[in-house]
Amino acid sequence: MTRKIAIVGAGQSGLQTGIGLLKAGYDVSILSNRTGEQIKAGKVMSSQCMFDMALQNERDLGVNYWDSDCPPVEGIGLRVPDPAKPGSHLIEWAARLDKPAQSVDQRIKMPVWMDEFVRLGGDLQIRDVDVDVLEALARAYDLVLIAAGKGDIVGLFERDAERSTFDKPQRALALTYVHGMAPMEPFSRVAFNLIPGVGEYFSFPALTVSGPCEIMVFEGVPGGPMDCWQDVKTPQEHLARSLEIVRTFAPAEVDRCRSIELTDANGIIAGRFPPTVRKPVATLPSGRKIMGIADALVVNDPITGQGSNNASKCSLVYLEAIKAQGDKAFDDHWMQATFETYWDYARDVVTWTNSMLLPPPEHILNLLGAAQQSPALASSIANGFNDPTDFMPWWLDADACNHFVNEQLKKGA
Ligand SMILES: Cc1cc2nc3c(=O)[nH]c(=O)nc-3n(C[C@H](O)[C@H](O)[C@H](O)COP(=O)(O)OP(=O)(O)OC[C@H]3O[C@@H](n4cnc5c(N)ncnc54)[C@H](O)[C@@H]3O)c2cc1C
Repeated sequence: MTRKIAIVGAGQSGLQTGIGLLKAGYDVSILSNRTGEQIKAGKVMSSQCMFDMALQNERDLGVNYWDSDCPPVEGIGLRVPDPAKPGSHLIEWAARLDKPAQSVDQRIKMPVWMDEFVRLGGDLQIRDVDVDVLEALARAYDLVLIAAGKGDIVGLFERDAERSTFDKPQRALALTYVHGMAPMEPFSRVAFNLIPGVGEYFSFPALTVSGPCEIMVFEGVPGGPMDCWQDVKTPQEHLARSLEIVRTFAPAEVDRCRSIELTDANGIIAGRFPPTVRKPVATLPSGRKIMGIADALVVNDPITGQGSNNASKCSLVYLEAIKAQGDKAFDDHWMQATFETYWDYARDVVTWTNSMLLPPPEHILNLLGAAQQSPALASSIANGFNDPTDFMPWWLDADACNHFVNEQLKKGA
């Protein structure tokens, strides 16, 4: 008999998993609290830069529809502005990614994937899922996955205090989608500006509802001068505030921004949330079990741009585990074991991402500075964004990191 799986949430993980399961012959329902039209007409949700490993999962499912329209992100660059000499930098390097990254506005991607899910025979229900609906789903389906991202419903999963480093937001976040930003030469990139004690500003190319654009991402240290969105009322004020931050903290980027304008009135967002890891299984009042996936269980600060990448990778782990389970029950043991398989990967991403939210220790400053002298080192750091497990364990250990730096410097000599 065909196995029935319900997924709550039509984002990166919910739709990727739903489409993958349909293609593998499962009977799948996705429940979303917004229609495709509402998502398309709504506010941006993410900057969703995805690297090659995660994009490969989309290619494998045949849902990589934007490869020719979406401008590639060809590299990663880092600048640490020199506060004493506006326009110059204490650290400055850039390196190409071995394979390009890509950011397709989720307002474009999710509605198209929802249509594809339905075209493949999936059952798409538009409703806001609560505990009563979950009870009904758990009775009727073999497995219920909660792919609700940061939705309130993920509060059903207990926070894992041991695996969660922080209990408060570590950055005040804002996104500004713009047209008219001058490109980085000679290759496009995530252009990071790391402003000690203040936060981070970075930008990169993307595809949005009105065509190619650049996304400006602001990560302000809470209570600091880049935590400055509370009084912003209108989209134009949001753009003006974005420019003010660039002028004040990343003056070398000002020239690129001379002609920028918002892509649309919804191309902005500001907010904050605590990076959190949750336990993977929740028990409903009836005693039935449900399981979380992707951001519902492991939500990272966007500083390293890993959330959608993680969602794609988590989806693949779950897809394979579901298939491998055959006709056997998706019981508590299977749920825990499946999440642990994902956590074996995600642990390193969480550790690396959380380390970037704290003032860098000396060995990391040394590493970032040494990358100026060594293209091999810069390349290692840039390509680590594709698979952050490459940073471990040396990233955390001063001796191992210094050893890694010296090896890379020798390569460049
Ligand atoms: C400012 C910002 C910048 C980011 N930049 C990047 C980046 O550059 N690169 C990157 O990889 N990641 C980035 N991310 C993270 C990335 O967007 C998320 O990690 C990713 O979208 C998570 O996918 P998901 O499937 O877990 O959840 P989501 O994509 O959040 O999807 C959840 C879905 O569930 C639905 N839902 C919620 N509650 C219910 C309910 N009760 N009933 C029915 N439906 C419900 C929601 O409407 C939504 O459609 C960023 C995030 C933020 C906030």
